[in-house]
Amino acid sequence: ERAEWAKLVDAPSVSKDDKHFEIAANIGTPDDVEDAMKQGADGVGLFRSEFLYMGSDHLPTEDEQFEAYKKAIVGMKGKPVVVRTLDIGGDKPLDYLPLPDEMNPFLGYRAIRICLDRPEIFKTQLRALIRASEFGPLSIMFPMIGTLAELRAAKRIFEECKTELQKDHRVLGDDVKIGMMIEVPLAAINADKMAEEVDFFSIGTNDLIQYNFAADRGNDAVSYLYQPLNPAFLGLINHVIAAAHRHGTKAAMCGEMAGDELALPLLMGMGLDEYSMSASSILRTRSMMKNLDTKDCAKLVEKAMDLDTNEEVANLVKKELNLAD
Ligand code: PEP
Ligand code: MG
Repeated sequence: ERAEWAKLVDAPSVSKDDKHFEIAANIGTPDDVEDAMKQGADGVGLFRSEFLYMGSDHLPTEDEQFEAYKKAIVGMKGKPVVVRTLDIGGDKPLDYLPLPDEMNPFLGYRAIRICLDRPEIFKTQLRALIRASEFGPLSIMFPMIGTLAELRAAKRIFEECKTELQKDHRVLGDDVKIGMMIEVPLAAINADKMAEEVDFFSIGTNDLIQYNFAADRGNDAVSYLYQPLNPAFLGLINHVIAAAHRHGTKAAMCGEMAGDELALPLLMGMGLDEYSMSASSILRTRSMMKNLDTKDCAKLVEKAMDLDTNEEVANLVKKELNLAD
């Protein structure tokens, strides 16, 4: 099997009926790019930039960040790179940036909420990113956006940084695409309005499931509520993808579900454009994709939506894929 997959390193990510998709890698540091390329990634769909901050004993400077982003972009050799802006707080603390003790850190001061409150931290990162965009195709995405006002505030700060940098370098950053994570339920519900204001969505199913099922993603006692195939949840995903496409916005996914083999035919049936996952899952996914027809997948989505539980959908997909229980 592995030998078969290895042949797909330079192959396009296409379905049996020749529809094109992208299978990208999730990375934590610029060094991960090497493996992403080896595994045939079509790009980086999620660069979790917080690892730059967690691996340092001070807030990384603009130049330190610039070098890291440049290294990732250059290493991808012209393939697109999506960097997510700082997603700190919640379960990811920083020693040198004291944050308040919170009763509910996952519902608290984290990610874009910190960045909008501390624009000097946010601007340092955005300036580094805009400067690095000179070296290849770069997209920036904002984590934990819930409201349109948050999205607009983040975009406004990005535009300010661009204007400042363009005083010296005309057009710098003009090609940077702007996207947002869909991981807060309200943003998913409001996907039509959100889609009008961004180039792409990336659905963060780890948090989107945590918040929709009201179940802490790190708590084993409630892990039975991790149900990516629950028909009610699939309906929400379908809504987000359809809303994106109504507005010419690309729909990507970068949570665990994007690399889940039972989810793949359903996501293809919904027309998800990009699947971003750990590099080690890319070739397996590309190989499965090649054997799936998107029209059959669309029919499978309809059947799945008529079912009632995660387990029923899992069984339906297993049967379709001829997988044993
Ligand atoms: C997600 O929430 O699905 C996601 C991709 O982000 P993280 O796992 O880093 O919160
Ligand atoms: Mg998340």
